[in-house]
Amino acid sequence: MSAIPPASWPAAKIVGRLAGDPALAARVSEALGRLQDALARYPDAAFASSFGAEDMVLLDLLERLGAAVDAFTLDTGRLPEETHALMQAARTRYRLRVRAVAPDAAELEAFVAAHGPNPFYDSVALRKRCCEVRKLRPLARALAGKTLWITGLRREQSPTRGEVEVLARDQVHGLMKLNPLADWSAGDVGRYVGAFDVPVNALHARGFPSIGCAPCTRAVTPGEHERAGRWWWEAPEQRECGLHVAPDGRLVRSRGPVQAAGAGG
Ligand code: SF4
Repeated sequence: MSAIPPASWPAAKIVGRLAGDPALAARVSEALGRLQDALARYPDAAFASSFGAEDMVLLDLLERLGAAVDAFTLDTGRLPEETHALMQAARTRYRLRVRAVAPDAAELEAFVAAHGPNPFYDSVALRKRCCEVRKLRPLARALAGKTLWITGLRREQSPTRGEVEVLARDQVHGLMKLNPLADWSAGDVGRYVGAFDVPVNALHARGFPSIGCAPCTRAVTPGEHERAGRWWWEAPEQRECGLHVAPDGRLVRSRGPVQAAGAGG
C-alpha cells in the first residue's frame, strides 16, 4: 500500500496524474467539481461510507482535496471481517478518519430477543425492521444537523438506482444529497482504484461487487447486475435497505442547484 497522500492536492494535480486515461480524467475532473461546488455551498457535510469501492474512491478524493467532512460508516454488527480489515487499513492510508456509528444497544438487544439473530430470511418486514434498527436509525443520528450527505451511489448499480441524480433533496433527512459518481461505470471506479492504488475490500475479487452485511450478501454470477447479491432471496424491487429511499418508496431524483449550474450528470 502506498504512503499517505499529501494533505491537500489541487484538483488539477489529481487530474494530471490521469493524463494517460483522458476519459477517466474527465470523470474525475467532473466529480471533483461536484464535490467542491457542493462543499462550498453546504459546508456542514457528512460522507457516509460503506467501504465499497465507490466509497473508497470518494475517500481518496476527499483526502486529496483536504476536505473537511464528517466521514462515518454504519457498523451494523453483522459486517464481514473483510470490511473491518479494510476499515483498519484505511486508518493507515488516510488522515481522514471514518468513524463507526453503531446501533442503539438497548434497541438492538430488544430486537434480537424478540426475533432472534437471523430473522431477515423469514419475511421482508423483519428484514426491513433489522435494517431499521441496525442502519436507518443510526444513519438518522449521524445525519442530524447536517446540510449535505455525500454517497457513492451509481446509476448502473441496480434497477432501483437507475435514476439517481447527482444532487437531490433528501426529504427523509431534510438535507441535500450528493452522489458525485452517479454517472460512473464500474470500469471507471476500477481504473481510479488502479491509478491511485486505493485499498479496496478483498471480497470484490471473490465475486462481491456490492458488499453489505455478511448474512445478506452473496457473490454474483456473470451477467447479474452489481447488487444482485444483496438480499438475493427477495424480489428485485424490494432490495434496498431504506437508506436511499424516499418516504413513498422511490429513490429521490429531483435536480438541485449544483446540477442546474452545470456540474451535474
Ligand atoms: Fe440486518 Fe441484513 Fe439489513 Fe444488515 S443487511 S441490517 S443483517 S437485514
